[in-house]
Amino acid sequence: MTAQQLKNLRSSSEYIAYFSMEIGINTQIPTYSGGLGVLAGDTVQSAADLSCPMVVVSLLYRNGYFKQSINEQGEQIESPVAWYPEEFCQKLNATAKVTIEGREVSVQAYRYDIKGVGGHVVPIIFLDTDIEGNNPYDRSLSGTLYGGDERYRLCQETLLGIGGVRMLCELGYQPENLKEDVKGAHTVSRYHMNEGHAALLTLELLKLKTKASGRSDFTEDDVSWVKKRCLFTTHTPIPAGHDCFPISLAQEILGDSSVKWLERTHGISAGIMNMSHVAMNLSNYINGVSKRHAEVSRSLLSNPSVKGITNGVHCSRWVSDSMGRLFDQEIPGWQQDNFELRNIFDVEANKIVAAHRETKQQLLKLVLDHNGKKLSPDVFTVGFARRATPYKRTGLIFEDLDALKAVAKNTGPIQLIFAGKAHPKDTGGKNLIASLHQYAQELDKSGINMVFLENYNMDLGKLICAGVDLWLNNPLKPLEASGTSGMKSALNGVPSLSTLDGWWIEGWVEGVTGWEIEDNADAMVQGSDTEQNRQRAAQSLCQKLTEKIIPLYYEKPQAWAEIMKQCISINGSYFNTHRMVLQYLQNAY
Ligand SMILES: *Cc1c(COP(=O)(O)O)cnc(C)c1O
Repeated sequence: MTAQQLKNLRSSSEYIAYFSMEIGINTQIPTYSGGLGVLAGDTVQSAADLSCPMVVVSLLYRNGYFKQSINEQGEQIESPVAWYPEEFCQKLNATAKVTIEGREVSVQAYRYDIKGVGGHVVPIIFLDTDIEGNNPYDRSLSGTLYGGDERYRLCQETLLGIGGVRMLCELGYQPENLKEDVKGAHTVSRYHMNEGHAALLTLELLKLKTKASGRSDFTEDDVSWVKKRCLFTTHTPIPAGHDCFPISLAQEILGDSSVKWLERTHGISAGIMNMSHVAMNLSNYINGVSKRHAEVSRSLLSNPSVKGITNGVHCSRWVSDSMGRLFDQEIPGWQQDNFELRNIFDVEANKIVAAHRETKQQLLKLVLDHNGKKLSPDVFTVGFARRATPYKRTGLIFEDLDALKAVAKNTGPIQLIFAGKAHPKDTGGKNLIASLHQYAQELDKSGINMVFLENYNMDLGKLICAGVDLWLNNPLKPLEASGTSGMKSALNGVPSLSTLDGWWIEGWVEGVTGWEIEDNADAMVQGSDTEQNRQRAAQSLCQKLTEKIIPLYYEKPQAWAEIMKQCISINGSYFNTHRMVLQYLQNAY
């Protein structure tokens, strides 16, 4: 994209409509569960900073995502989080109607404005069905994120995709060339589906176009018209991560004629509606969220045209307070232009080390307040926080407890900070959390402190990623589509120790930005995810700690400070959503 095109875009009235099932704006607004929502929040904040004309659609979730606590046995306890949308958002004076299971459901909307550094505003439109006149089931549809059964989920996706397009029209954001003559109306030139949950927006656009052409049935031209306006970002390399629904359920919820249309566009085939296919078949641009993920998606979706745009994080949201102050002093303008972070090499190392230490102390104070454990700022601290689910292999570092104890005894003291929620229905994930509890007790006997911080959310994420000395990540390859928490660490001068998966394949320079956990297990290579390979990965993890990382930390503080700079300069300056949104602008929008 040329500078002129970018300028034109900024002044244009052509909007990008960004649809996401979840969005993480801040900890007070619990409309996100994890990575997908956090990415959406970071994307929208960067779009606002870059003055990108964008409008965002999501659901309101009055019950939020759950609050996590851990009982004496180490079990996860879930409780709802009450929040009051009225305190944060403006209720809009608009109603849209969506037909769900043959009922006409009324939809209202709340607006939350994201302001960019230069004052540009990106509105988020939260859809809400909790309206008098809707039946109790329909009123509950905007209630709980990833709650309920398959039916509830498809009803929610209908609300997001179809209800979202309709609500945007009500609010004056209309698709190009179909504009009704509404005063002050905006043109939407692109519809971006952040994951397949919003896929049904393509069906609604196809209906709008067909109707505007005065026909009752769509033609190839109508399909091309929709495709030209839609793009789809897939976020998971796990087949089960692509939402699928039986055709009978689609018939009940969407009706026979919609199902016939979806069959003709191959969103439904062999009796299954696959939301990724619904989205993909009516999009002109399809992408995965890292280079490796794009490669895996090309095969998973049998589509050679899938591109890769690697995720990022919004730097000013994820930099710690102390490191942010240092950047402000030393690299003026870095918030507008994250590429400037490259110049961290000119900053004195001791200032970076001091800024990090301040954040570490803040984190350790939080640990003391919440867990009653006093950790030392002088001890090498390993962090691990992410959704507890089997493929992320939460407990890999504890595979051989004696080896870990030996590392601490012979190489240098270590302490560990863990966090992460398990999805309420993920028994495997819950078991992982409970097992962490056991490991903590076992390690305690050898004088190694390990704590689990309850209720992982964005505030906690920011503090843990920035405040530890090493960020640990050990998913089973290639199932971590991108991962973003390691990027948050890098931005704060914290190196990663990670299996080569997702973003880390691109961000990894051995001994410069972090280290690789060597791992022969690969979910795409049949028979390689064995107990033996798992143990070898755990061994490699301990070996890197013993031979490379811990000695460097304790014995060569200057070299460690150089690594901190390299993390910021090489990875912080690149793995951010400013760069990512620019790539979407250049390649996709
Ligand atoms: C950053 C973040 C995530 C995503 O991190 P991954 O590395 O992709 O697992 C999830 N949850 C919270 C609260 C976060 O801050």
